[in-house]
Amino acid sequence: MRKLVYTYDESDPEDVKLLGGKGAGLVLMYKQGLPVPPGITITTEACKLFYSNGERLPDGLMDEVREAMRWLEEKTGRKFGDPRNPLLVSVRSGAPVSMPGMMDTVLNLGLNDDTLRGLIELTGNERFAYDAYRRFLQMFGSIVLGIDKKVFDDIFEEIKRERGAKYDSELSADDLKEVVRRFKEVLGDKFPQDPWKQLELAIMAVFRSWNSPRAVFYRKANNITPDVADGTAVNIVAMVFGNMGFDSGTGVLFTRDPATGENVLYGEFLPNAQGEDVVAGIRTPKSIEELKNERPDLYKQIYDMAKKLERVKKEVQDIEFTIERGKVFLLQTRNAKMTPLARVKTVVDMYEEGLVTKEEALARVKPEHIIGLLYPRLDESYLKKHGISPIAEGLNASPGAATGRVVFDADTAVEWRNRGERVILVREETRPDDVHGFYASEGILTSRGGMTSHASVVARAIGKPAVVGAEKIKIDYDRREFRVDGITVREGDVITIDGFTGKVYLGEIPTAKAELPREFFEILRMADEVRSLGVRANADTPEDAEIARRFGAEGIGLLRTERMFRRPERLSIFQQVIMARDSEERREAMNKLVPFLRNDFLEIFRVMEGLKVTVRLFDPPLHEFLPSSDELLEKLCEARMRGDSDEVSKLESLLRRVRELREANPMMGHRGVRVGVTYPEIYEAQVRAIVEAYLQLRKEGKDLQVQIMIPQVADYREIKYVKEKAIEPVFKEYGVRMPVGTMIEVVRACITADKIAKEADFFSFGTNDLTQGVFTFSRDDVENKFMHDYLEKGILDFDVFQSLDTEGVGELMRIAVEKGRAANPNLEIGICGEHGGDPKSIEFCHRIKLDYVSASAFRVPVARLAAAHAALKERGVEFPIY
Ligand code: ADP
Ligand code: MG
Ligand code: MG
Repeated sequence: MRKLVYTYDESDPEDVKLLGGKGAGLVLMYKQGLPVPPGITITTEACKLFYSNGERLPDGLMDEVREAMRWLEEKTGRKFGDPRNPLLVSVRSGAPVSMPGMMDTVLNLGLNDDTLRGLIELTGNERFAYDAYRRFLQMFGSIVLGIDKKVFDDIFEEIKRERGAKYDSELSADDLKEVVRRFKEVLGDKFPQDPWKQLELAIMAVFRSWNSPRAVFYRKANNITPDVADGTAVNIVAMVFGNMGFDSGTGVLFTRDPATGENVLYGEFLPNAQGEDVVAGIRTPKSIEELKNERPDLYKQIYDMAKKLERVKKEVQDIEFTIERGKVFLLQTRNAKMTPLARVKTVVDMYEEGLVTKEEALARVKPEHIIGLLYPRLDESYLKKHGISPIAEGLNASPGAATGRVVFDADTAVEWRNRGERVILVREETRPDDVHGFYASEGILTSRGGMTSHASVVARAIGKPAVVGAEKIKIDYDRREFRVDGITVREGDVITIDGFTGKVYLGEIPTAKAELPREFFEILRMADEVRSLGVRANADTPEDAEIARRFGAEGIGLLRTERMFRRPERLSIFQQVIMARDSEERREAMNKLVPFLRNDFLEIFRVMEGLKVTVRLFDPPLHEFLPSSDELLEKLCEARMRGDSDEVSKLESLLRRVRELREANPMMGHRGVRVGVTYPEIYEAQVRAIVEAYLQLRKEGKDLQVQIMIPQVADYREIKYVKEKAIEPVFKEYGVRMPVGTMIEVVRACITADKIAKEADFFSFGTNDLTQGVFTFSRDDVENKFMHDYLEKGILDFDVFQSLDTEGVGELMRIAVEKGRAANPNLEIGICGEHGGDPKSIEFCHRIKLDYVSASAFRVPVARLAAAHAALKERGVEFPIY
């Protein structure tokens, strides 16, 4: 038979799974020589047996309990059930992960009419004894016998009213006697006078509380699965009493401030009270500071114990204590839950104080903490205080809270911004042409689209809060308003969006601004010392590049060039390129664009001085740069009515070209290197602009390393061809060389990576396209139509566009890395898909030994931390669960 009950002397404080968090914490304190009342623990194994046994205690358990209770009696010099010298105990739940307030605890167990008298004699304190008894009867009645707690509360309140007492502490011994009498009336003969019977029933009640609806819900909400915690332990702990008078009391404290992380004790203390009184709001507790003034000796003791626990546990502790007639007892210690700010600050402080190693410090900071620090949050207490509820709800696409005036298009956003307004861009969905509006806005709200819609991706990339797919919102662009549930919000009205929750509010809700503390940069610096994976950024604009640099990116892993062609003065020139009849015309038109492009490159290169920048050549299909045929038809009609024959023939040929370019499946159509092969003039001019910008920078006495990247490659001959036709000639002309590499985002490229590696200086995985190709999922359609269904039905475990499918897509990557490196040992390999900013995917990239990940600029800090975590995991460093 397995042992199911352990005394503190027999327990191993490391065995959290068996003893539960509370039990292990108590044992730890006991073994550290800290003043905890002695106790015994019934293991979580016993709880499992209880359930497999049809909710009956396992055979022999109570015998084991009796045996262990003897140890407790010895330790305390009291006897359970002895009327002259009674031992009282608490029976407390405690699972392997903390589930605060979710399960039950019974105090003062062992009291009955006989032992009550003994307690009075022993302490000479009748009031105290009755106070303990009434508490016990209430807890036993409600927790063990299932009587509504309110019945007891009502009686208690009634007696307080009758006696004119505002607080419980004003009731006399006689008053409490009356409370006990009335409570016993309620319990009737269901209340067992036999302490052993009480104990048995209480143990069962604690086991049952593991499956109480609130506990089940809590586990579900916090993703506590059976492998993490399967059942609660029961802690039977000798009672100490905070309700023996005003030299006694009960309190809770954090070893550091859990909101700010400041290194001061933080907590509260309630004199002449027991158990949860301090948090139950029955009287106003004193702050720990007050205790410091009134009883510096006690404060000093508590302080020393708190610090000792911190040293042993290497975590900020959340401690429960009781003072019995001037003597301090510790009743619980656990790792504190803290704000992201406090988490990061305390970890760095504890590292600097020498309490934790660099590795331990890093393992204690989670990507969520870093994200939490980067974005402002809504002030929850304000919402509560004013009873404000949201007007709409969508997906929490990009974190952060933002307030501003509603605008319905990107140009208006820019215009209003320029006159000093804060705006929220509200659209049904967004397109690449709207991106200038993103920068101008505080946040983005859309009524359509999923977590990987254009709005979501761009918002996350540039760190703007976004709520997408708020379907109840009906936008009327013509009237410049949206309606939701009978509310009309007009252009210029103020709204607040919460990208953490997906909620939308009317008016301004105050936010807590994200000031980045020194410790934020410090922990990332520590991460850099540990990680082997490089971290670069995806950045298309100087603004992006600046964010990337400030957040520690080691370069740009993906500079997309498409937006350079979309700007107004350039678009018409580029349309000439698309309309050109032959290579000559095309080259001529493209060359007109070179000065513009050169300027764009130069601006970004300046920001990235000294670092690496990978420029991707033109990627999208050409038709994206022509007007739609509907639009053209309309214009054609008007031109015909006016009789403007020049315009008519111009529009007609444009329309012809648009129809020629129309594709059934543009994502798999004429795009990427395919365009470069057909029209090498486009790539050639881009390379010319890049080289000229680079040489200009060199002339300014600055330097950086530029790499040129070809998208959508499926066969090595594509690379060979564009190098020969569009790239090498320009290098030759200017007498420069730059590494030329390729995106690996086509399935065939992974499989033939050896051949491709012979033509390429570097690989960069484009896992968005690769995922689409591997699953044959068209991303936007999948997100909008059935991804949620697949997740719900368990066909996919996660959204493969957010986190890398390591089994499928990852396997192809592995093959490509292996073949690529075998063929070209100098091959540099990175990833620039959205997955490059996802911690789980980053861990995989580390494992398959990529050289770097490139994440959107705002995700760079998360990527640095995640890359360090990946290295630590490989070394077997343990990661705590919070
Ligand atoms: P929870 O899991 O809800 O924190 P606990 O088991 O910690 O419940 O019990 C709640 C409170 O009861 C504790 O904070 C402590 O103040 C009090 N308590 C528990 N056991 C004892 C004891 N043996 N002596 C005195 N007070 C106790
Ligand atoms: Mg507790
Ligand atoms: Mg791609």
